[in-house]
Amino acid sequence: MAANTQQAAGFTDEDMQILDSIDRWVDGEVKPIARKFDQADEYPHDLVEQMKELGLFGATIDPEYGGLGLSASVYARIVARIAEAWMAPTGIFNSHLIMAAAVQRHGTDAQKQKWLPRFATGELRGGIGLTEPNAGTDLQGIRTVARRDGDHYVLDGTKTWITNGVHGSCFAILTKTDPQATPAHKGMSLFLAEKGEGFTVGKKLKKLGYRAIDSAELVFENCRVPADQLIGEQEGRGFQHAVGGLELGRINIAARGVGLASAAFKDALRYSQERKTFGKPICNHQAIQLKLAEMATRLEASKLLVEQAARKYDTGERCDLEAGMAKLHASEAAVANSMDAMRIFGGYSYSTEYDVERYFRDSPLMCIGEGTNEMQRIIIARQLVERHPA
Ligand SMILES: Cc1cc2nc3c(=O)[nH]c(=O)nc-3n(C[C@H](O)[C@H](O)[C@H](O)COP(=O)(O)OP(=O)(O)OC[C@H]3O[C@@H](n4cnc5c(N)ncnc54)[C@H](O)[C@@H]3O)c2cc1C
Repeated sequence: MAANTQQAAGFTDEDMQILDSIDRWVDGEVKPIARKFDQADEYPHDLVEQMKELGLFGATIDPEYGGLGLSASVYARIVARIAEAWMAPTGIFNSHLIMAAAVQRHGTDAQKQKWLPRFATGELRGGIGLTEPNAGTDLQGIRTVARRDGDHYVLDGTKTWITNGVHGSCFAILTKTDPQATPAHKGMSLFLAEKGEGFTVGKKLKKLGYRAIDSAELVFENCRVPADQLIGEQEGRGFQHAVGGLELGRINIAARGVGLASAAFKDALRYSQERKTFGKPICNHQAIQLKLAEMATRLEASKLLVEQAARKYDTGERCDLEAGMAKLHASEAAVANSMDAMRIFGGYSYSTEYDVERYFRDSPLMCIGEGTNEMQRIIIARQLVERHPA
């Protein structure tokens, strides 16, 4: 992106320096290893160390606690740039930052002082544990319980699909402190739990895409968590705390969608100028031109929706409508652009010697994570009705 366009987006010199260093890192370290690590499903330990140096584990944490304190707008730009090279590593710091955001937004002062500096450096890394084998969309149906016992809570239950589950050590875990409460969300509480006795990894899950990054089942058996690790130190607020963090999470997923949609478009455009059939580059065939035009338009619309949602988030205003629209559109754009890129690449799209097959495997996750696209449509519609009373 040209410097003057970045300034128009309201970025400071410091923001632009950060974006430049991310660009250099992506070109020098991320792009060259993406295909190999994805195909080997190998965890990128070196990238994690580099992410610590870049400050990515504290990207949205307040400088007061050692973070970079980036706006959602800059953060979304960073995520899109990394995802364009390789989407999977963005999950390493994004899930971690959702956990950090729960503490930053809802934790007590003592909790912020204790946990945020360690999250910001990446000394403690982790993510967010909401989903269970029997409940994903319907989070009020979770079964993990936290029972008070003196100055501790005792956690029992199983979480699944938890990003960073194997290599992370600390997670924000959604539980029921009052399983009988009606409505159920009034009996839900969010805890910070560190791995140790009673908190183990069940199994690492094998996946279609988003490889190299660990998704795991986490098991809690009689796991004792100090009572001061209940976020906000007040029972019954966990559902709101968990769901509140999803706005930033959705902007992040939308930004990942932009990255994937962009990668698929750029690869397809280049290939269509190089590949010849019937004596001319395939970009001169109208059938291919139609696809390129659709791909570029989907991409640009997604970028604008992400920018709009991030800007609104930065003002502190409610942005579930905007974040939902950005997530819905950009994730579907990633899937559609990956599929169109496959068609443009023809047989070579099926080869593991090109990245197009990875975009095709990675992009559907964007339609599922942080609230499925079915739910995004429902959230958007509800907000439309609420914001436009008859
Ligand atoms: C790779 C990966 C990483 C993940 N990382 C994490 C993580 O770090 N932490 C975490 O907590 N979770 C994580 N998840 C879980 C993810 O958030 C859930 O898979 C997602 O929320 C959907 O839940 P579900 O899979 O249980 O589907 P279900 O809730 O069972 O939904 C199944 C289908 O029914 C639809 N549906 C459900 N309810 C409704 C309704 N009311 N109206 C219309 N349609 C409906 C859904 O849209 C979907 O199409 C991850 C998942 C994957 C695949």
